[in-house]
Amino acid sequence: MTFTPHGKHLIAGQWVASEATFSSEPAHGQPHKFSVGTVEQVDAACRAAEEAFWSYGYSTREERAKFLNAIADEIEARADAITEIGTSETGLPEARLQGERGRTTGQLRLFASHILKGDYLDLRHDEALPDRKPLPRPDLKLVQRPIGPVAVFGASNFPLAFSTAGGDTAAALAAGCPVVVKGHSAHPGTGEIVAEAIAAAVKSCGLHPGVFSLIQGGNRAVGQALVQHPDINAVGFTGSLAGGRALFDLCAQRPVPIPFFGELGSVNPMFLLPQALGARGADIAKGWSGSLTMGAGQFCTNPGIAFVIDGPDADAFVKAAVEALGESGKQTMLTNGIAEAYRSGSRRVSGSTGVRELIGTSCETREAAPYLFETTGDAWLANEELAEEVFGPLGIIVRAKDQEQMRQIALGIEGQLTCTLHMDDGDTELAQSLVPVLERKAGRLLANGFPTGVEVADAMVHGGPYPASTNFGATSVGTLSIRRFLRPVCYQNMPEAILPVR
Ligand code: NAP
Repeated sequence: MTFTPHGKHLIAGQWVASEATFSSEPAHGQPHKFSVGTVEQVDAACRAAEEAFWSYGYSTREERAKFLNAIADEIEARADAITEIGTSETGLPEARLQGERGRTTGQLRLFASHILKGDYLDLRHDEALPDRKPLPRPDLKLVQRPIGPVAVFGASNFPLAFSTAGGDTAAALAAGCPVVVKGHSAHPGTGEIVAEAIAAAVKSCGLHPGVFSLIQGGNRAVGQALVQHPDINAVGFTGSLAGGRALFDLCAQRPVPIPFFGELGSVNPMFLLPQALGARGADIAKGWSGSLTMGAGQFCTNPGIAFVIDGPDADAFVKAAVEALGESGKQTMLTNGIAEAYRSGSRRVSGSTGVRELIGTSCETREAAPYLFETTGDAWLANEELAEEVFGPLGIIVRAKDQEQMRQIALGIEGQLTCTLHMDDGDTELAQSLVPVLERKAGRLLANGFPTGVEVADAMVHGGPYPASTNFGATSVGTLSIRRFLRPVCYQNMPEAILPVR
């Protein structure tokens, strides 16, 4: 089944065109024209979402679970067409789109079953103590309530799982919040067909059509108007530090500031401790190469930096990493802009003092091969720019002088989505000195693994101190992500009959 996008926005159940259009830039296949969003269309979608909240925000958990499952079914019903347009727009392989579709529908179904259990509501009840002296205690019931319409910005690198019906949308809908999505201009056709699936589910579940809208981009004013709209109560964002920070600042400057849940970039450092480096350096190098080049390195959890302690084992690790990465070929990047940013980021690293290029590439198009660099702990500590994310398959090996310098490096790193320790039994003492440092830096700490591949589960944390995210108390993956779109309300001495449905 081939899908030809019509290029319109979905505003409260209606497909609406704009005069101005932009063209998609597919990696292969035909480009299509898409309507550029306008501030008026943002306003219409947000108003409809607010109107829908008066029913959707008071729906039962069963009704919302049915809706989430219906979205998953409608996405599956369009499986082949989604894969076709998704691979064309992003250049990602078919298997990746299929896997990501499974992750997206699995996430919707998981959230459906999670809200049915009800414990996410964290209901608390302090019973009245009328005879307490010197003062009686009132009856107090704490309930988590949905916050109202939520704006969602998807990321270019997860056209399904972090986009139109991705984690943020699923979490907000599970909580009881209508959603207005700002479509990503890197995959507007994929956004359109997924929006079509959500619209079909809205209809079959008999919900207010304002529960979901998608406004295509093509103009930065769309996203800016969306986060500033008075009917929007929070923003879920996945993307770059620069884009996220610009929108976060707009949220903070509003007359009524709102929370901005931005999941941003990260370099996901790995610390290779001496025993593990000596015993398994070559295996770790191979595993690192696979993780670093997966999806052309376009993962927020891409482990871009490896810290080792200098010496013969470090030499062997470098040699093995050069061999492993040297074997990986070119892959298509998500957009021309991302490929250009990858090239300029590599030039920045390559031109830094004390950095040596181990693998270079002459990539001039949207096809990217890996870069590998090495430097010393001293050069790393002297140059903060080396710690900035280069989005793509770029790795830096940093040779620390000794264990103390490795700890100094750990103390100096900024907020990360993940930090990884490669360690054997003999490394326990050093690991014990690093973990208290690293747990202050990252949302997820791993031992002997690679951070790409984020499990959607109850215990997952995908977030971390700034700049990994703008809100270290939250996660954008896993069932805990629903809590971002809830607000605790205490009902004091309120008769049961007028308490909200729970
Ligand atoms: P991006 O360029 O920041 O774009 C994300 C969205 O924000 C797009 O809709 C974009 O609009 C919009 N936007 C960006 N800057 C804006 C501004 N100043 N004003 C209004 N809207 C703005 O990010 P991306 O290219 O999609 O993703 C790549 C980055 O995301 C990488 O750094 C990666 O590490 C990070 N990422 C993080 C996670 C995570 O979970 N932490 C996951 C995946 C990716 P347009 O459509 O107009 O460009």
